[in-house]
Amino acid sequence: MKKIIVIGFLMTSLLSACFANEVNVFSSRHYESDIKLYKKFTDQTGIKVNVISGKDEALQKRILEEEKYSKADLYITSDAGNIVTFDNKGMFQNSMSPIIEKLVPSNFRGNNWVSITKRARILFYSPDRVTRDDLINLSYEDLANSKWQGRIVIRQSNNIYNQSLVASLIFNNGEEETSKWAKGVVNNMSRAPKGNDRAQILAVAAGEADIAIANTYYYALMLSGNKGAEQKLAAKKVLPFFPNQNNRGTHMNISGGGILKYAPNKDNAIKLIEFLLTKEAQQHLINNTFEYSIIDGVEPHELIKNMGLDFKQDLETNIASYGKNQSDALEIMLNAKWK
Ligand code: FE
Repeated sequence: MKKIIVIGFLMTSLLSACFANEVNVFSSRHYESDIKLYKKFTDQTGIKVNVISGKDEALQKRILEEEKYSKADLYITSDAGNIVTFDNKGMFQNSMSPIIEKLVPSNFRGNNWVSITKRARILFYSPDRVTRDDLINLSYEDLANSKWQGRIVIRQSNNIYNQSLVASLIFNNGEEETSKWAKGVVNNMSRAPKGNDRAQILAVAAGEADIAIANTYYYALMLSGNKGAEQKLAAKKVLPFFPNQNNRGTHMNISGGGILKYAPNKDNAIKLIEFLLTKEAQQHLINNTFEYSIIDGVEPHELIKNMGLDFKQDLETNIASYGKNQSDALEIMLNAKWK
C-alpha cells in the first residue's frame, strides 16, 4: 500500500513538473474560506493552487531570499502599505490585465498590485457613555482632543493597520500635525495598548474605555457568534461609527496582492486574480470574512449591511501613500510613546 502511495506521489510530482498547470500562492490571509475558493477555481479551470500560508514577515523573507529561484507566483496579504512597500522593493511585476483594470477602481490598484477586498478602520463606541452630540462630525483628528482623556483604546503601534491609518493622517495633515495628534491620542488612552482589534471592542463593552478603533470585519465576526457567545454579547454593547463623514471620508484599507517578479506561472496567476474578482468569488470572500467587495454590485454580509452602507469612504487619499508613510507613522507613534 505504502509503495503504491509513494509511486503515486512520485508520478504526480513528475507530471506536475512536466505539465505544470498550477499557481503558487503565498498568502498571509489566514482564512479557511480562501482555500475553499481556490478549490472552486481549480474545478473551473483545472489549474491547481498550491498555497503557502504564513506571516508576512516570513513569506516576504523567503521570497526575497529565494529571489529568482522562488516558486511564488502570487503574494496575497492584508494592508495596502504592506503590498506597496514590497512593490517598492521591486519584488512584483505588472499584475494588470484589461479585466482587472476594468473591475478594480484605480485608487485600489497599482501597476503591480491589486486589491481583492476592502475594509474600513472605524470607531466603536459605548452608547451609554458617548452621546449623539459627541458624534457630530467626529473625525480621527478629534481623537486627540482632551475631551477624550482616558477614554480611548487602540492596539499597539507595531500593528500594520494602525500604521496605515497614521500614514493616511500624515498624507492629509503632514508630519508635524500628526505628531501632535499621536501625542494627544496617547494621552487619551485608557490603558497601554494591548491585544488585537477584537480586544479593543471587548474593552469598551467591559467599560474600560468609551471608544475603540478597529476594523469593520472584526466587529461583524464577533456579532456572528463565530468567536463565542461572550464576544457576541460584547459586540452588542457597542455601536459602529464611521468618522470623517463631513470631509474626506472614512479610512479604507484593503487585502490584495501582486504577481512576483520571478513568477513561473504568471498567466495562471492573472487567471486566479481575475477569478477572485468575479461576482461569485467576491460574494464567497465577503460572506466568510465580512469584508467589503472591491467590485460593484456585490452586497456585503447582513451584519455589515446593518452597520450602514451609505457612509463616505476616503477615496481621496491615495492608498499607495500608506506604503510610503508607514515607517514615518511608526516613528511618530513611538516618539509619542505609543507602545
Ligand atoms: Fe485583520
